[in-house]
Amino acid sequence: MPAGDFAARSLSSLSEDERLFQTNVYLFADREVRPLVRDMDEHAKIPRDLIDKLFDLGVMSIEIPEAFGGAAGSFFHAVLAVEALSRVDPSIGVLVDVQNTLVINALLRWGSDHVKHHYLPLLAANMLGAYALSETGSGSDAFAMGTRAIEQADGWAITGRKLWITNGNEANLFIVFANVKPEAGSRGITAFLVERGFNGFTVGKKEDKLGIRASSTCELLFDDCRVPPANVLGEVGKGYKVAIETLNEGRIGIGAQMIGLAQGALDHAIKYIKERKQFGRSIAEFQAVQHQVARAATELEAARLMVYNAARLRDEGRPFLTEAAMCKLYSSEVAERVTSLAVNLFGGNGFVKDYPVEKLFRDAKIGQIYEGTSNLQLETISKQLLR
Ligand SMILES: Cc1cc2nc3c(=O)[nH]c(=O)nc-3n(C[C@H](O)[C@H](O)[C@H](O)COP(=O)(O)OP(=O)(O)OC[C@H]3O[C@@H](n4cnc5c(N)ncnc54)[C@H](O)[C@@H]3O)c2cc1C
Repeated sequence: MPAGDFAARSLSSLSEDERLFQTNVYLFADREVRPLVRDMDEHAKIPRDLIDKLFDLGVMSIEIPEAFGGAAGSFFHAVLAVEALSRVDPSIGVLVDVQNTLVINALLRWGSDHVKHHYLPLLAANMLGAYALSETGSGSDAFAMGTRAIEQADGWAITGRKLWITNGNEANLFIVFANVKPEAGSRGITAFLVERGFNGFTVGKKEDKLGIRASSTCELLFDDCRVPPANVLGEVGKGYKVAIETLNEGRIGIGAQMIGLAQGALDHAIKYIKERKQFGRSIAEFQAVQHQVARAATELEAARLMVYNAARLRDEGRPFLTEAAMCKLYSSEVAERVTSLAVNLFGGNGFVKDYPVEKLFRDAKIGQIYEGTSNLQLETISKQLLR
């Protein structure tokens, strides 16, 4: 084994730059996001002003090179940002997550020179992105999509309907997957870059959700939507690769969202149990309560190490498929357990909207659904083990 391998840092140790970045993002979240959390949840809306501030902070263009106006950071930086923001509001966490780990990530990896020169500066400045794969009939079985693209003399015409698209309400650029040759099955799937203003494209119904309510989730409608030839992302017929490989990385970001929100719930619970008195003492003095909190913190630490490890592997260019699936599976389960405990520890106050943990409990549920349900993560993991 090369000597360098022994010099590896502990999983949770951060470089000076990473620590400063994490602190800055958390301080921003505490100052700019926290006061808006309840209102954003109630009105199911993120103010544009807050999105602009996220652009100013540099967290909307983390991996974009400086030459295109980005922050020239790593994937690990994106994970730190999503975690820090989700500790305050997982809806803001996922907005930033989709922009970085799905949209920008896919453009950096698959975009032509033209695509990079045209769109990366816009994404770094103020353009929000979305990633449109799912449809009514194709969720887990994503490649059974019904959306079609037909080649025209001057580009492509897309017709179909996408469902559940995060950032749909605010985004200006959509990565849209459509099949150009249905008889070829998944080998006909192609990724297209569609701007909000393109003819034949409209954003439809916005979903009224259980959790991450401020994050918009929309239907997209394509009726002979015209897309220029230069807006094919990657190769025609290779969209399945764009979809799979981007989501493999993206789910590490969902892991980061889950550990962030679990940490937020634990922070609230620890503060509350020290203040709340029953039987003449603070409830934090009861050993049963102390042990519950200790178990939650232990599980959260394990989930964080898994998320950080998957992100580091990805940045090192090493295989990370199994670790990414494991970190999303486990961190979403931990988030559900930790937020549920936080509700319990708040007692009746945990069940009402005047206190913050009820919302985080609702927000946690999505981690087991999007970017591949828990069953699908188990499929990925077992396939790797049994091949
Ligand atoms: C809030 C929200 C935001 C989203 N954002 C996006 C987005 O930005 N872009 C996007 O493209 N999509 C997005 N999605 C869609 C999301 O990725 C899908 O909902 C998810 O992949 C599950 O698909 P489905 O809803 O069709 O469920 P189904 O695939 O119908 O699954 C239903 C149940 O069956 C199980 N199941 C299905 N197949 C199998 C199998 N082979 N083995 C075992 N169990 C199985 C599942 O695990 C699940 O429990 C979002 C969804 C939500 C709710």
